[in-house]
Amino acid sequence: MNKEKKAINIVGAGLSGTEIALYFANKGFNVNLYESKKIKKTPAQTSNNYSELVCSNSFRGLTNAVGELKNELFILNSELMNAAQITKVPAGNALAVNREDFSKLLTQKLESHKNIKIIEKEFIKINDNEITIIATGPLTSDKLINELKTRIEIGNLHFYDAIAPIVDASTINYDIAFKASRWQKGDESEGDYINCPLNKEEYEDFIEEMQGAQRVELHSFEKYFEACLPVEVMQERSSEQLRYGPMKPIGLFDPRYPGKRFYAVVQLRMEDKEGKYYNIVGFQTKLKYQEQKRVFRKIPGLENVKFIRYGSIHRNTFINAPKILNDDLSVKGYPNLYITGQLSGVEGYVESIAMGMLTAISIYNRLNGNNNFTFPTQDTALGALYYHLRNTTKTNFQPSNINFSLFSGIPLPRKIKKKEKNALRLEYATNKFKEWVNSQKIL
Ligand SMILES: Cc1cc2nc3c(=O)[nH]c(=O)nc-3n(C[C@H](O)[C@H](O)[C@H](O)COP(=O)(O)OP(=O)(O)OC[C@H]3O[C@@H](n4cnc5c(N)ncnc54)[C@H](O)[C@@H]3O)c2cc1C
Repeated sequence: MNKEKKAINIVGAGLSGTEIALYFANKGFNVNLYESKKIKKTPAQTSNNYSELVCSNSFRGLTNAVGELKNELFILNSELMNAAQITKVPAGNALAVNREDFSKLLTQKLESHKNIKIIEKEFIKINDNEITIIATGPLTSDKLINELKTRIEIGNLHFYDAIAPIVDASTINYDIAFKASRWQKGDESEGDYINCPLNKEEYEDFIEEMQGAQRVELHSFEKYFEACLPVEVMQERSSEQLRYGPMKPIGLFDPRYPGKRFYAVVQLRMEDKEGKYYNIVGFQTKLKYQEQKRVFRKIPGLENVKFIRYGSIHRNTFINAPKILNDDLSVKGYPNLYITGQLSGVEGYVESIAMGMLTAISIYNRLNGNNNFTFPTQDTALGALYYHLRNTTKTNFQPSNINFSLFSGIPLPRKIKKKEKNALRLEYATNKFKEWVNSQKIL
């Protein structure tokens, strides 16, 4: 392979773009790194440095799913994780950094690397003959979006995410909740949905509880879409709106009292194949996390429910990855074009870095002519994230943080405490990941 011949184009010197640029440059490839922030900042940026952390200074926990993702990035010798380790500040059971030092260190690395040419401009034209990796993040510039629209159907490009909370199915109270699909004929108990019924009084109590709940403020550049309003905004418009929207009881009858319809119903839809996790259908929300826990636990059947992921809504450009991407993470119909980082449909700093790294590894193997390359399996964090983007069984693809509901295939004893469970998961996933790294000769 002639590494000198054609440079690799990377668009965006944010978190994922920086990881990819350093990955290829360290391997001797020439890299063109396009970045527009010195000419025009996104509404979230304040600094001229690359790899800017636009909000929190934390890469989150160490002993949970995102902890495992970081473990795996350290195993891959991630430049960004190494920079985080060097610039870290005390943060208990989390990895947090001095954001200035973190970005400065990476900016120096990019600027001083002999194989990296930084091009300070807005990238607006894709050359399909050259390898180009789009890593322009949740606030990708409009002109580049227009360019992407010439290759990606508009219905597969999204500009907001609307995430409903996900709960642990084993913590739902089945004395109240029951399985059935709306309008289902025949045996109701075989329904795909879990339903939490409310009578008039319970519904009114729930609405009242929501009215006083604290919310996360919208950023100045965000607005709500009518088709996707947070539940608390819907109830604000009319106390009946939820009953005619996501809590519609129509077609659902109480299996215990044939013919009796409910006043309102909250439905939960399966999130994973095994049915361990369910999302609360249509419950996208801007309520603060603790408030979601408090208010949504007022729903009969969910009194003690464990939240695996909280709901949210925010401005976020992303593609419908299962439809748009090939298995090697290139764009269907455009074998030289890759979309990665948050734009590919993951959510969060560490996840964006991880997808950047995985895309780089995929391209490197392609350029090496390694046809036997396989991606990590779903019992690892990086594999779980990859399978989230490849999961074609979901009709409504939404970006996701890494969390244990995305993993599959980790054997666990039946009765075990959460702390021990997580420790076992991390140990198993790390071992599997190391096996993958060795078998694929990644390092
Ligand atoms: C307001 C906000 C707050 C967030 N807070 C958090 C948080 O606290 N914790 C967390 O884990 N995640 C957070 N995220 C989500 C996400 O993890 C970060 O946005 C993360 O930086 C995404 O990484 P990335 O590499 O995909 O994109 P980015 O890090 O955003 O990098 C993209 C880069 O591309 C550049 N760019 C865009 N268009 C062009 C173009 N046409 N030409 C050239 N350059 C271009 C941008 O200037 C930017 O530097 C937040 C997102 C937003 C929008």
